[in-house]
Amino acid sequence: MQIILVSRTKKVPKTFNLADRRLRWRLLGVAVAAVVGCAGLGGALAMAVASPHDRALTEIRQLRQQVQQQDKQLVGVRKDAQRDIDALAVKLGQLQAQSTRLNALGERLTQVGKLDDGEFNFDEQPAVGGVEDSLGGGYALPQTLDTSINQLANQFDSQQAQLSALQSLLLDAKIESNLKPTGMPVDGYISSYFGGRPDPFSGHSAYHTGLDISTPKGTEVHAVAEGMVTYAGERTGYGEVIEIDHGNGYMTRYAHNSKLDVRPGQRVHVGDVISEAGSTGRSTGSHVHFEVWYKGRVVNPLAFVKNHR
Ligand SMILES: [Zn+2]
Repeated sequence: MQIILVSRTKKVPKTFNLADRRLRWRLLGVAVAAVVGCAGLGGALAMAVASPHDRALTEIRQLRQQVQQQDKQLVGVRKDAQRDIDALAVKLGQLQAQSTRLNALGERLTQVGKLDDGEFNFDEQPAVGGVEDSLGGGYALPQTLDTSINQLANQFDSQQAQLSALQSLLLDAKIESNLKPTGMPVDGYISSYFGGRPDPFSGHSAYHTGLDISTPKGTEVHAVAEGMVTYAGERTGYGEVIEIDHGNGYMTRYAHNSKLDVRPGQRVHVGDVISEAGSTGRSTGSHVHFEVWYKGRVVNPLAFVKNHR
């Protein structure tokens, strides 16, 4: 096919032969350029024609989608947070119960140790139920939870301080108690008391400086308190005697033994066997003459032997 273009300004008409391949490509190029140009123009025209109102609507739609997504995420976060708070609340409840038990224990120990109640106040109750939600929506207010945790931490600090003070007091009391002469040094019956009595040999009035406890020869004699043996041997009138210094002003003496089982310098504990009863020295029969000295003065042992540890 041929296209002939006739122009007024040009005398010779221009002839295009469509059979020519190069010409066909050139025309195709022109056509494609025209189409692309029209499309671009149309788009620009559409942008120009679309009102700001429409664009705002589009933006709002996008924003609402974003907000929806964020809201979903927030629900997830809230669920996690609630789970954490619930777990914390349970843990807190357990700790509060533990603190209450510690208080009860402390109070009991104070009573058992017969310690001054004024120094300890284990009856102070920890804040219980502080994590409950005042809004009723199932959310514990983090501030309330934080306050409860702080209160509980203070409570535990106070308990720890009080319990260690209590422990050292009880330990001191126990050591003190172990050092104080308590109970009978030997199984038997009291045949003679402390104080004025007729001398068993002369019959004259004499001052008896201890307790006589009648017991068969060979009966084990026990230390009535912890201490150190300061004398083990013969003393005039006392026969074979043991003396123990308890280091707190107290000294005990066990006389008329048939056999001595400890040596001077030896440390003895409460109830340790120190000798065997007998009738050595100035004695009319097998017994233990028991003396208690306090700060260098002989005292009546009766109250001590009647006490229990
Ligand atoms: Zn005596």
